[in-house]
Amino acid sequence: MPEAPPPLLLGPGPSNVPARVLAAMAQPLRGHLDPLFLARLDRVQAQLRTLFGTDHPLTLPLSATGSAGMEACLVNLLEPGDPVVIGVAGVFGERMCDVAARAGARVTRVEAEWGAALDPDAMAEALGRVRPKVVAFVHAETSTGVLQPVEEIARAAKEVEALVVLDCVTSLGGVPVQLDDWGVAAAYSATQKCLSCPPGLAPISFGPRALARIRERRRPVQSWYLDASLLAGYYGSERVYHHTAPISAIYALAEGLRLVEEEGMPARARRHQEAARALAEAVAPLGFEPLVPEAIRLPPLTTLRLPERVLRTGEADLRRRLLSEHGIEVGGGLGKLAGRVWRVGLMGENARTTCVDRLVEALGHLLA
Ligand code: PLP
Repeated sequence: MPEAPPPLLLGPGPSNVPARVLAAMAQPLRGHLDPLFLARLDRVQAQLRTLFGTDHPLTLPLSATGSAGMEACLVNLLEPGDPVVIGVAGVFGERMCDVAARAGARVTRVEAEWGAALDPDAMAEALGRVRPKVVAFVHAETSTGVLQPVEEIARAAKEVEALVVLDCVTSLGGVPVQLDDWGVAAAYSATQKCLSCPPGLAPISFGPRALARIRERRRPVQSWYLDASLLAGYYGSERVYHHTAPISAIYALAEGLRLVEEEGMPARARRHQEAARALAEAVAPLGFEPLVPEAIRLPPLTTLRLPERVLRTGEADLRRRLLSEHGIEVGGGLGKLAGRVWRVGLMGENARTTCVDRLVEALGHLLA
């Protein structure tokens, strides 16, 4: 049976992968300790530092998805009994609480409405009261489509000397990220969103303050695989075996990062903004409205409230037809927003008005 043509992936990730990245993955393997492979890994690590806006020496593509990046940051920086403040404004803030609690930390949650931004004053109040070791929150909350205010929260964290952990899964490569200027101690991302690479790697970055905290730990990190001190053996200057690096996935990331470099991050961020703006305008006549006010809207991921008639007939059915009849995938709502919104991702390669046009044309047919 012939395979259906590849779908246009306009959901919350993965996004479509450019041919150059797919071709890079098909290259013959080299060993993960081969000097030529390691030279390429050096370059990937340097490019990730540039993209994260940091000089952090321990910046690397972790061999796992974004959730493992989250887990790596939290389990390295938290020990049982440590206080942590977490901003919760969607599914991925919730996941951070779960991961931190499993690491034995004492979690204080600061909540915001789903679809709203975290309140920096509420975060500052909790930080002053709890004096946590770590404050963690999501830069780009993919479940709601909100871009959170990093700088104000990071300033409040500095006053109480808490380490900031930032989830950049849906921001890196689509929205400017400046870990050093913001004072972020550790951050993580994922390859399948605005970097337009296949899922499977989590770029992560630990700064000097995070590494100092890890050195001061009273007990070893409970996860052997995610222990930053052990990862540093391979991803630092020694280049000794820790685990077998996923060579083909790193070839893909190298090519994806080359595409980012060729375009330049300012132009790439602008392209994401313009595509998101075009989407909001183009779907309005069909009755879809952004959930999030424009000032805090996340360009790579727009949550759309659904027209009454779509809610009546069932949004899942329309999404299924969009995929089966028009080859376009969009995401349904997650958690509290399930059944109420769609999540439309214009990420990386797909942050283009041509993708918006295809979606609007297909919706026009289905709703006619
Ligand atoms: N954090 C955010 C903001 C996400 O959007 C996601 C995935 O969508 C994750 C974490 C988890 O990443 P993964 O699904 O790659 O494990």
